[in-house]
Amino acid sequence: MGTTVDQKRATPIVEESLDLLTSTQITFKEALDKLGYSKEMYELLKEPLKMLTVRIPVKMDNGSTKIFTGYRAQHNDAVGPTKGGVRFHPEVDENEVKSLSMWMSLKCGIVDLPYGGGKGGIICDPRSMSMGEIERLSRGYVRAISQIVGPTKDIPAPDVYTNAQIMAWMMDEYSRIREHDSPGFITGKPLVLGGSAGRDKATAQGVVICIEEAAKKRGITIEEARVVVQGFGNAGSFLAKFMHDMGAKVVGISDAGGALYDPNGLDIDYLLDRRDSFGMVTNLFKNTITNQELLELECDILVPAAISNQITAGNAHNIKAAIIVEAANGPTTLEATKILTERGILLVPDVLASAGGVTVSYFEWVQNNQGYYWSEEEVNDKLRKNLVRAFNNVYDAAEQRKVNMRLAAYMVGIRRMAEASHFRGWV
Ligand code: GLU
Repeated sequence: MGTTVDQKRATPIVEESLDLLTSTQITFKEALDKLGYSKEMYELLKEPLKMLTVRIPVKMDNGSTKIFTGYRAQHNDAVGPTKGGVRFHPEVDENEVKSLSMWMSLKCGIVDLPYGGGKGGIICDPRSMSMGEIERLSRGYVRAISQIVGPTKDIPAPDVYTNAQIMAWMMDEYSRIREHDSPGFITGKPLVLGGSAGRDKATAQGVVICIEEAAKKRGITIEEARVVVQGFGNAGSFLAKFMHDMGAKVVGISDAGGALYDPNGLDIDYLLDRRDSFGMVTNLFKNTITNQELLELECDILVPAAISNQITAGNAHNIKAAIIVEAANGPTTLEATKILTERGILLVPDVLASAGGVTVSYFEWVQNNQGYYWSEEEVNDKLRKNLVRAFNNVYDAAEQRKVNMRLAAYMVGIRRMAEASHFRGWV
């Protein structure tokens, strides 16, 4: 790793690896070593048990046929069926899907759901596809992976650029293949097809709960807090709204095109109203700043809710927030985590902070299996209890072991799947 100094900013630039699988494996190893597990356990858990690559032919609207590549990774099913979303994005790649499935295992362990981790992805750009093309791609993906998924095997869900409509098409396709209605095959469905009350807001709710708990630890009151949210998709937009409604000042938000800043607080209701279905809103404004500038704004709480590798060794020294709560998967690199920890910034890691979505997905699956549906209040109560407990488990583990919250979260998340793998006689 080489270090140079950027003269203009007098900030050391560290050339670090941005490969998600490598950094995930490093932290898995560290957590397993600290827990006293053998090298064999690391060998078992360092990659998904199963990784399927599929090629999906789709008839496009102009009469041509396009072949899309998709993946489904199943990390470890010692605890139960695997679980995790499917993302549609041009930059999806094999290693990313593998890492995301490993993070799902950790999330399920941390919030104590009877699942292992899974993840899927298709290399595509839904922003430039018609609804018909997206439907045919979604159905083609389900046909291609149908042998390895199912309500007791592996349960998909929404992720980046996928939504309730796409879940509905996927559920319909799976039900046709199996020749019976299978709502428990997938979560994040529309309410009328067996979706759960509160699922759409669940990831943001979970982040709010983690922000509240972290703020208590640092003596920050939400009403006086200045919040910056990177990303205005499902998690980011609901989160900005919740924080705004709770009395916090949301001073910055961003989307893939740029960022908005107002030290007096942004009009979140207006922005929500104007945002398109892919979370774009900054294109309507002239005075924008960049996503990088947004991350370095003066604020108390910073929530990266967009994509991976946003806070790196290159900008970690310039972050001004007292608390960072990761709503996105993998927004902070390992080097940056070290720098932020040394600087005394409280970093609530993705595998804990973004676990609200999969928690309510689990509630949805339970309701589907029972055919008995709960109120939104019931869902939110259960979500809160679960996440407050998870936050404090991880926080206490970090204090006791004198490690940062990311490593503590990995330790809490790994322990159960390692034990289950051991009891099954795998290692
Ligand atoms: N895609 C979400 C995540 O990364 C939700 C997964 C799920 O609901 O299964 O946590």
